[in-house]
Amino acid sequence: MREFKSGISYKGRLEKGVDIVEGISALIKANNIKAGIIEGIGAVSSARLGYFNQGKKVYEEKIFDENMEIVSLTGNISLKDGEPFPHLHAIFSRRDFSNIGGHLLFQTIVYAFEFVIFALDGEPLKREFDEDTGLYIWKD
Ligand code: ZN
Repeated sequence: MREFKSGISYKGRLEKGVDIVEGISALIKANNIKAGIIEGIGAVSSARLGYFNQGKKVYEEKIFDENMEIVSLTGNISLKDGEPFPHLHAIFSRRDFSNIGGHLLFQTIVYAFEFVIFALDGEPLKREFDEDTGLYIWKD
């Protein structure tokens, strides 16, 4: 565990048609946000989600080509390969009010998206590949 102090907070939105993971990646790189927390709500026209199969150590991916609410998007920002990297998870609500969720992947397309980023000041955590889990996790 490492100590951070609260830094600058950002509020904003992504335009309709933007890929959420691409959009957030571009914003944190442009603003050099190396550590932080992100949260957001809104709606998507489609989503691509990942579920990590712990036995096989691979992400199983699925595209949901449907209009949904973003009930909750949450994530963190750290460094991966020396670049600011967002790790994002989200829960979506379907027209029948059932929910799906998972690890957010490229090809999740904004209908409307409002977010807040809380940047943190301090030595950023770095993601490195971990043989035991098969994931890129925080290492000091
Ligand atoms: Zn994840």
